[in-house]
Amino acid sequence: MSANLQAVIAEDYIFNLREEARKGLYARLKQGLYPFKAPIGYLDNGKGAPKTLDPKYAHLIREMFELYASGQHSFRSLHKEMNRRGLRNTKGNPLCMHGIETIMNNPFYTGLIHIKATGQTFNGIHKPIIPTALFRRVQDIKSGKCGKKVSRHNHLYRGLFRCGLCDAPMSPERQKGRVYYRCQTSACDTKTIREDVLEVAIIGQLRTLIIDEDEARKLKLQWKKNQAISNQAEAIQSLELRIADETKRLKRLTDLLIDGVVDNTAFQNRERDGKLRLAELKEELANLPDPATEEANHMKFLELMKSLAELHVLAEPDEKRVIVQNCFSNRTVIEKDVCLEPYNWLREGQLGSSVCVGAHLRDTSRTIIPLLDILHGKQSGQEDDKGPLNRLS
Ligand SMILES: [Zn+2]
Repeated sequence: MSANLQAVIAEDYIFNLREEARKGLYARLKQGLYPFKAPIGYLDNGKGAPKTLDPKYAHLIREMFELYASGQHSFRSLHKEMNRRGLRNTKGNPLCMHGIETIMNNPFYTGLIHIKATGQTFNGIHKPIIPTALFRRVQDIKSGKCGKKVSRHNHLYRGLFRCGLCDAPMSPERQKGRVYYRCQTSACDTKTIREDVLEVAIIGQLRTLIIDEDEARKLKLQWKKNQAISNQAEAIQSLELRIADETKRLKRLTDLLIDGVVDNTAFQNRERDGKLRLAELKEELANLPDPATEEANHMKFLELMKSLAELHVLAEPDEKRVIVQNCFSNRTVIEKDVCLEPYNWLREGQLGSSVCVGAHLRDTSRTIIPLLDILHGKQSGQEDDKGPLNRLS
């Protein structure tokens, strides 16, 4: 055989081998199996079996996502903290910064398999370590889409207020020992506002949301009555509709690719986003609070609403932020005026009309839980000294 022909055969042979291997890998991926080395936090179990959680590291991976999502860490400080907590790579060495970034970018931890080289995303059959919502939150913080990036100065209301005239963010700055928030448009009529002025406005507005014993009782009754009609079924139905929509959109996306309307890169990006969104909706459906917990939470919250403003005064800085974020949907500064618009469900509570119906119920369950955690902790801490809480009523 001529050397030339040998080379051609060899080339063909290698090509076929590659083709076979590629098909084999693809088949596994389609089954939801990851045919490569397990990412940190998972263990290998042979080619035909899904990865399982590594009892040594899986919880540390979850902690790492949670720490970053808290907004209190940069990659650098997270890197330090995770090495301190004992996270190691497969060789048993401390992770490098790049290793941390790789983990934070990998949707494998939510149950998806993303192949970077081809851009494809598959539904894995391995157990997720973190909820999709947490993963998406981390992606948003990384890309700066949500204002909770770590700043060197942890100013109290950073990222929470916008200018009501030009919609620019009101950014904190320190001047002569005082904190000011400044509209970022230099020609705007809104200039700066002092932090203590904001604080007074917030407390004043919270005071208007306070309800008395009588109103609380009325609202509780009303809420129970509305609950009897049950919004749970409505919430389930709405989520199921959104899941169906998202599934349809993903199918349509494939058609768009086949028809050449979108190119491969656009397709892969949109597919990955779509699959993440879908997973998040499914999680939301699976985690809908049961009506009994929901009711208990509402009753507790209505109790706390009797002293909302006082609780804010006593709150730690991080807690104040949660209170402001969760009570007011719109937070703007217009020249020297502070405008705080309470969420509908809070306002309706105050007016004594029907509280928490339909869509508001869903708003409420999302916002009420972190608030309850904080406010309730504060209140029980104050049990020995009822002074500041009682002064209001
Ligand atoms: Zn402005």
